[in-house]
Amino acid sequence: MIAAKRNLVECAHCGAFNRLPPGDRPGRLFCYRCDHRLHRHRPQWSQHALVCVVTGLILFLLSNTQPFISLEMADQVLSTTLLSGVQALLSREEVFLAGLLLLSIFLLPLMQLLTLLYLLLSRLQARAMPASRYGLALLLRFERWNMLEVFLLGVLVTIVKLSDVAQVVPGAGLYSFLAVVLLLNAAGVLINRRQLWQQIDGNDYFVLAGNVELSGCSVCNALVDQRLRYCPRCHSRIARRQLHSLQRTWGFLAAAIVLYIPANTLPMMYTTSFGATRSDTILSGAHHLLVTGQWPIALIVFVASILVPIGKIVVLLYLLVRAHRPTPVRLMHRLRLYRVTEFVGRWSMVDVYVVILMMALVQFGVIANIEPGGAALSFGCVVVLTMLAAESFDPRLLWEGVDETASG
Ligand SMILES: [Zn+2]
Ligand SMILES: [Zn+2]
Repeated sequence: MIAAKRNLVECAHCGAFNRLPPGDRPGRLFCYRCDHRLHRHRPQWSQHALVCVVTGLILFLLSNTQPFISLEMADQVLSTTLLSGVQALLSREEVFLAGLLLLSIFLLPLMQLLTLLYLLLSRLQARAMPASRYGLALLLRFERWNMLEVFLLGVLVTIVKLSDVAQVVPGAGLYSFLAVVLLLNAAGVLINRRQLWQQIDGNDYFVLAGNVELSGCSVCNALVDQRLRYCPRCHSRIARRQLHSLQRTWGFLAAAIVLYIPANTLPMMYTTSFGATRSDTILSGAHHLLVTGQWPIALIVFVASILVPIGKIVVLLYLLVRAHRPTPVRLMHRLRLYRVTEFVGRWSMVDVYVVILMMALVQFGVIANIEPGGAALSFGCVVVLTMLAAESFDPRLLWEGVDETASG
């Protein structure tokens, strides 16, 4: 009985229990009920992931020492590295924006690379080194907050926007940074989370007595007796469904809706060029790009900054209403909406990065100056709040009381 339950795993999207294949069989496993990917195993994944991580660390060093972007204007040439951009923001007393930039493009990727290196080295030595469980839990928690690709899209938009005032030349630092992002993604795809956890603690089934209600741990996927408050393997909180999921989602969403108003009515940024200052809201910024003939970039800004936030708010409201009264009709449709919302959320941050990058890059004083408007902070908060709302929403609530016979 117990042995039969050991290789079960709970699907985080619908709550169904699925049986895992034997540990070393290559391939992927999808939930039988909702098609969510539960497990992936490739042969020799740890060696391949280690190559990605070590190369990534070397390129990370290059991306921070080589020029990232150079601006050529009249007879001045200004080269910026990633960290000198942070310094430029600090010298303008934009501590909050400098902190956001430093955290998302320097500290978090460095932490990811070093943690992965540590875990992979301990995997190759076939023993868990100290504090591995905290490293892996931290890595998994921060995974969805990774903004590196969004930052790169912001770099692209900035290069196009600045091309009317100066000639913009991408440097070796930017290309190395692009490679780091690709390598980190590859390592994320390669690593076998289940085997990493099993190395830390081979037991992934914890019960106090027989015949108990089991919950899947949201961090390490162990099956844990619901009477235990914390997972014995990764020490995260155990609950049958995310605690106060609907109330928290409502709260984050309400705050996001309130802040959405200043985010769209206040200016995003003030641009001074040749003595004239113009202010742009999100919408007028996209419109300005359109009339100056840069329609692909205008489209990116319009989708990321206008369509995605509105779409997310509407979809989450719909899901909340449905979660209060679950019905079996069009369940998969609702789950797909949730997945799209969760996936696209962070891309709205692109406009905030554009403001930060333009400020960090343009230091020509009287000729061109860029200041952030009131919308930059409120829009950044809207994006973070909608991401928190999506994270708090437990999609298993949509399945509550539905299709009980199939979930056994
Ligand atoms: Zn499922
Ligand atoms: Zn756990």
